[in-house]
Amino acid sequence: MKPHSREVEVFVRIKPTSNFAQDHIECLPDGQTVNIYHRKSSRKPPDSRKTPLSSWSFRLEGVLQDVSQEEFYTQVCRRVVLEALDGYNGTVMCFGQTGAGKTYTMTGSTESYKQRGIIPRALQEVFLEMGKRTEHAFTVHLSYLEIYNETLVDLLSSVRGSPHPSPHSMVVMEEPGGGVFIRGLSLHPVHSEEEALHLLFEGEMNRIIGSHALNRSSSRSHCIFTVHIESRSRTLSDAKYVTSKLNLVDLAGSERLGKTGSEGQMLKEAVYINRSLTFLEQAILALADRRRDHVPFRQSKLTHALKDSLGGNCNTVFVANVYGEAAQIEETLSTLRFAARMKCVHTDPAVNEHMDAAAQIKKLQKDVQMLKEELSICNTLANRPSITYESLSEAQLAEIHSQVQRYLEGSLKEITIVSIRQVQAVFAQFKLAVQEQEQRVKAQLCQTYDLVEKDQSANAAAVKEWDTRGSTEDVEAASFGVPAQSPKNTRRPSSTKAKTKKSREKQSQNKTPGEGSPAARKSLESASKSKLNSVQTPEREQESQEPDSESQESQPPGNEPLHPDSPPSKEEAFEDFKAGPGSTINRILKENKAVLLERRSLLRQLTQEVNAVKRKIDCTAAPIQQQKELRGGHGQCLVTSGGPLLQEPEATLLMQLRELKALYRQRYEALHDIKAEVNYCQHLVDQCRVRLLSEFETWYEKNFLVPEEEEEEDVTMAKTLREDDVEQQLLPDNPGSASFYSARHRTLKTRNNAALVFTSAQRNSDGQRRLPPILPVT
Ligand code: ADP
Ligand code: MG
Repeated sequence: MKPHSREVEVFVRIKPTSNFAQDHIECLPDGQTVNIYHRKSSRKPPDSRKTPLSSWSFRLEGVLQDVSQEEFYTQVCRRVVLEALDGYNGTVMCFGQTGAGKTYTMTGSTESYKQRGIIPRALQEVFLEMGKRTEHAFTVHLSYLEIYNETLVDLLSSVRGSPHPSPHSMVVMEEPGGGVFIRGLSLHPVHSEEEALHLLFEGEMNRIIGSHALNRSSSRSHCIFTVHIESRSRTLSDAKYVTSKLNLVDLAGSERLGKTGSEGQMLKEAVYINRSLTFLEQAILALADRRRDHVPFRQSKLTHALKDSLGGNCNTVFVANVYGEAAQIEETLSTLRFAARMKCVHTDPAVNEHMDAAAQIKKLQKDVQMLKEELSICNTLANRPSITYESLSEAQLAEIHSQVQRYLEGSLKEITIVSIRQVQAVFAQFKLAVQEQEQRVKAQLCQTYDLVEKDQSANAAAVKEWDTRGSTEDVEAASFGVPAQSPKNTRRPSSTKAKTKKSREKQSQNKTPGEGSPAARKSLESASKSKLNSVQTPEREQESQEPDSESQESQPPGNEPLHPDSPPSKEEAFEDFKAGPGSTINRILKENKAVLLERRSLLRQLTQEVNAVKRKIDCTAAPIQQQKELRGGHGQCLVTSGGPLLQEPEATLLMQLRELKALYRQRYEALHDIKAEVNYCQHLVDQCRVRLLSEFETWYEKNFLVPEEEEEEDVTMAKTLREDDVEQQLLPDNPGSASFYSARHRTLKTRNNAALVFTSAQRNSDGQRRLPPILPVT
């Protein structure tokens, strides 16, 4: 891996000639510099002597004149080939005018072994080196591409096993990492130098046949012979592997159009060649300018196909093939100028490292297996041979389930931790158990007490049942601060109720039946009906038997007389509402209250029982303690030398104490359960109450409220909300407080529900405080 960038290596190869232009070409002894002296050609030969002589100096990587193919390969190409085997891409490219020796340099003579060029030598080197590097497994593939007039030709398509694609199906494609490949170009695996050379010759043959068939010179096309190498370590079992491409490029002749004087097909070829070489030059100039972030590779097939073989992470070698004769001096100069530009291109050679996903998985699986074996050894040493680290089987999961159940019941003292998987499974079972328990409790509570969801007939039956219970519920209800419901209570109207009735009677005196608002009419009716309790309809009877808890809770004193034109007072309207549109919710509320009271009564009873048991425990424990102290703290003794008579009462007491403690525990648990039920029922009652009042408010506003009476309504609303302070403040001697309370009412109105819930919750907590404290047992 090379951390530093390097220049493209540029060499000049001068074709041997007996007529070397000494006056024009000077190769300096450093072997790196070539000077060109040239007098610009003039159309008038007699004046040519007057044309000034120009000189150019080119300093390159090497100027090679009269060197053998062997020397040339060793000096120019060997390093690139060897580094290709390390994973670096390499490109060797020959450039120059037709006949200057590009093909000779690249392929050489196919008849003479000594005269063989770079490609056969590189192939030989690759296979020789592969044989030496035994720690790596190499695979080699070859491809041979020809680009003629912007058409891609697969020179190895005739080889057996190749897909024989049509020229049009071949496309230059770019890989995500920036590399390029030719879709449709055949890739041939080779396992020996011979196989590889056979393919090279096959390709050369196709190149010649093609040129004859199309009546063209083989030097009118660009040829790219590519050796694709992949290397994997045989010693390291990691998933890394390296790949590289060794591109050996024989470019088409670079001679200028004017000089060749071509026409027809030749002209067309020359145009294509010139264009592609111009684009190559542009790409090279862009590559040489490091400030440019775009290189126009896609302008021609040649530059596109060589995109990852010119600059980038590639080892690039450029060979400028030139004639040694004076007649070609202008083309030589042009080729050397091009070569000098190429020298400015920098590359950053880097190994093409890849990760093999399949190999990586295989390796990780192997690692896991090895670690498991290691763990198994550790467990054997630690005397825990039965532990496995595989996923738990059905049977193992069932065993864990059983363990957790027994642990929860108390029959299993602890669950031994054996592995992480087992711990996870245990926690999963605990979670499941909690969820199941939650579901069970929820379903039980809903089934028993969620009367809101029950149908009306069931509710009615339930109410009747509770109504038959004893009058002690009055006392219980009072102690919880919730109005009780009992026939007794219903028959004995509270003072508030009496007041209400009184106001209704008063109203009836000022009105004739059938007149006034519907609510007023209804109040008259209910007043007359109250005198006829014995003939009430069953429906009405039920209503009259219901405790007027809501009216008691929500009714203000309501002692102002009502005028026929004014809307009914809120308390009266509320009564009507409960009898009419709000009857269902009112009934449900009452039913829920009944349940609540019943559960509270039970709670109270249980508390008393628990405390009674506790007192008994204390009474039983005291004499045992005394006996213990008398024995001088020598511990419990049931049989002594004097006989068992003296110890018998103590033993009986101990037995009693044990039984009492068991009873205490049992009662205590029941007490907890009933407490949860009371809380749940309280929640239902609160919900119903809020709903009843909010529905009433909506109904009242809709039916009776007129803008002029807003202030009066506000006052009534405030009263309905049981704001006692409001009632006290709104006395005739405090008239200025109206605005204040009006504003306060608005606030309360928006927070109606919250306020009501708060009120009932407050009451509830008061009620619970009245319960006797539960005595702890030690
Ligand atoms: P190009 O491919 O550049 O058009 P060639 O490689 O076909 O030119 O060379 C033209 C002729 O010159 C060939 O017959 C070749 O054998 C010969 N030739 C070129 N370079 C050399 C060299 N260095 N030594 C001997 N003969 C050469
Ligand atoms: Mg050639």
